[in-house]
Amino acid sequence: MRFYPAVPFFLRKGFRPLKESAVLKVHLRSVPLFSGRIPPYSASLKEFIAGTEYEGKLKSVKNAADRLPFRIDNAETATRLFSRDMYISPSKAEVYYSCAFRYFCQYGMKVKKLRTADLDARINGLLIHHILEKILLSRKNKELTLMPLSELTAEVGAITEAFITEFMGGREEMSVLLKRSLDKAKDTAVQILLRMIEEFRVSRFETVAVELEIAHGKDIEPYRIKLPDGGSVTISGKVDRVDVFNDEGKAYLRVVDYKTGGKDFKLGDVFSGLNMQMLIYLMCLWDNGKEKYGNTVPAGIMYVPANNSGDRLPRHATKEEVESQKLKNGRMNGMILNDEKIVDAMEEGCEGRFINAFIDKKGELQGTLLSYEGFRLLHEKIDSMLEEMGASLHLGEIEALPAVGSSSYKNTCEYCDYKDVCRRTEADEIRELKSIKHAEAVKMLEGSENDG
Ligand code: SF4
Repeated sequence: MRFYPAVPFFLRKGFRPLKESAVLKVHLRSVPLFSGRIPPYSASLKEFIAGTEYEGKLKSVKNAADRLPFRIDNAETATRLFSRDMYISPSKAEVYYSCAFRYFCQYGMKVKKLRTADLDARINGLLIHHILEKILLSRKNKELTLMPLSELTAEVGAITEAFITEFMGGREEMSVLLKRSLDKAKDTAVQILLRMIEEFRVSRFETVAVELEIAHGKDIEPYRIKLPDGGSVTISGKVDRVDVFNDEGKAYLRVVDYKTGGKDFKLGDVFSGLNMQMLIYLMCLWDNGKEKYGNTVPAGIMYVPANNSGDRLPRHATKEEVESQKLKNGRMNGMILNDEKIVDAMEEGCEGRFINAFIDKKGELQGTLLSYEGFRLLHEKIDSMLEEMGASLHLGEIEALPAVGSSSYKNTCEYCDYKDVCRRTEADEIRELKSIKHAEAVKMLEGSENDG
């Protein structure tokens, strides 16, 4: 090995540094030199570390100094880091498509920010899910519509107390605040159930599963995509609720999710790899649910708002106004098969009181609808997005390029735990999400097949 004169003496004395810290100091001090501004010094250091474990480290420092996009150069290393056969949840796919570098930090490096657990919010969510599960599994939907309010509230109360005793050691040692918070969650569950019962009166869909597990050996086999490099992406998860409408030998499936955040479904987001969770579950049930449900056909996805405040009303609003606002706030939103029979099976009369589809004055079906062919194309689209994700991760593509734009992704970086790691600035590039109207998104989807 040959050195240029400007190489520090302690590096010239031996080929291997004694301490890594010393070398790292040299690395950091040498960053400008590696940009080629002092060629002899730069060249000697490059030669000195060539083939050593520090070569890669120094390259990373140089890349950071040059602000080059993050990537893992060695595909084999990337494949090992993310696994050749990847097992992920739809929410991980959501993280990947919101920012690949964030995915790398969170699921590749498993870097987690220590934070104070918001135990109350978590327990409240669990309690609400638990109550809905117990009540929906105890009776058929139509039987629930016959349940007097007093019986419903008594049963919800009993479920709540059993939950507190079984999972929280009883009320005795509990703080007043936590008790109040749990009672509020119980009341919210009653309100959600009352709204559901109103909907069940006019619906022919029947709840067939609650907290359904999609995983190997569980309720439904998971969704698996093969990758061109021989690897695979397997998606598993838990579905809040599955409803089925059986008609003429077909099992029309509806996937239902309880949402506290009031998220609106936007088909256009799927083209950017976002908002796919419910659709992934639906596609999985469509493919793998035949044994359980019969000849499956996708009927739609629905978000049920898991809060129903009557806010946005004047202080002296009448009881009727409050009820009408509650109904409006509680209306489910999602995407439904473009078939009047199915819309009518979800809400008899197709008035759009409970779902976001209705028949207008001209007698035409309106709303967030998609044809059977559209669902088929969407299945292909989602498969290709998941394949692209797996293939890109295996190639080490982990660029910090956040998806920003539509309502749910306005502040992608603001609440990210890794902003100090990626060192993003306002001036850096973003992946801009276009706001695409539903009709336009349907056209794009259908057009994608014609484009070939
Ligand atoms: S701050 Fe933004 S760019 Fe950086 S990792 Fe997070 S989402 Fe990605």
